[in-house]
Amino acid sequence: MERLDAFMARANAAYYATHDPFADFTTAPEISQVFGELLGLWAAMQWQAMGAPPQVILAEAGPGRGTLMADALRAVRRMVPDFAAALTVHLVENSPRLRAVQAAKLPDAIWHDTLATLPPGPLLLLANEFLDALPIRQFVRRGAGWAERYVAHGAFVEQPATPLARTAREGEVVEVDAAATDLVAAVAQRIAAEGGAALFIDYGPATSAPGDSLQALRGGTQADPLADPGSADLTAHVDFAALAHAARAAGAAVHGPLPQGIFLARLGLFQRTGALARTQQPAVAARLLDTAKRLAEPDQMGRLFKVLAVCHPGLPIPAGFFE
Ligand code: SAH
Repeated sequence: MERLDAFMARANAAYYATHDPFADFTTAPEISQVFGELLGLWAAMQWQAMGAPPQVILAEAGPGRGTLMADALRAVRRMVPDFAAALTVHLVENSPRLRAVQAAKLPDAIWHDTLATLPPGPLLLLANEFLDALPIRQFVRRGAGWAERYVAHGAFVEQPATPLARTAREGEVVEVDAAATDLVAAVAQRIAAEGGAALFIDYGPATSAPGDSLQALRGGTQADPLADPGSADLTAHVDFAALAHAARAAGAAVHGPLPQGIFLARLGLFQRTGALARTQQPAVAARLLDTAKRLAEPDQMGRLFKVLAVCHPGLPIPAGFFE
């Protein structure tokens, strides 16, 4: 018997070490080059707001194929060369398989297993669809108390749990995003002490609500999350309210969560996509405009995906978070 978070950690470590996750799902940077370009320029604006320190860490957590960072670097080299000269690229990735894919695109990067080993100093951190892969715990309301979900032989087993300060009806599941919350709190503490800003983009509701959001994707279709660990990508909704609370408690300024569509539109998603489309044949131009809509339309990725910024309290409100 294994607690759900231990099961999820083990299953995802095995999955990312042995599979090409992009055969099972696609992500924003794989849909449009503009996504990474805008995030790179967002980081450059934070660097300028910090007073343009001569050395800065540009880090990404869970870089996948390295596409986001490659697009970001291309944009900042062209638009903000002083930032490109000041930054060192650090990637937090625990899959040896994906590290090799990333190294082909980002030969000068420095890899880490966890954020804890990043060197000290001002930090600009990007993380897209990283927190949703981190292990969660699930509790079930039972009578006057709570049970916690464990996994044994491909099924849930409930064990008595200590009281939880959450409201739910009998039999309802409540998720605790423990690993993501700890990680965001550690980033917030570091940023409050040493300067910088972090941008977390992921899917989940803006306010915490009961419900079981654990899901598995295998070959692009929903699968049983408890069957055959390591064969499917396990994810859960990110609890943005809990993350924002933890980051504030750690001393950082928090902006958002804001719907991804609004954030990207404010940063110029449609203008940049339009500029790329203008030099293309009509069919290619139409496909490009479709990618921008896919990222930003409320019924596609624009509303479910949220953006949360965790900043040094001395920084102004970051781009995208004001009108
Ligand atoms: N950000 C990318 C990839 C998302 S997939 C994109 O948008 O396309 C999740 C990524 O996080 C993968 O690179 C995976 O190997 C990495 N990852 C998952 N859990 C991790 C952990 N605990 N520590 C470090 N990296 C992890």
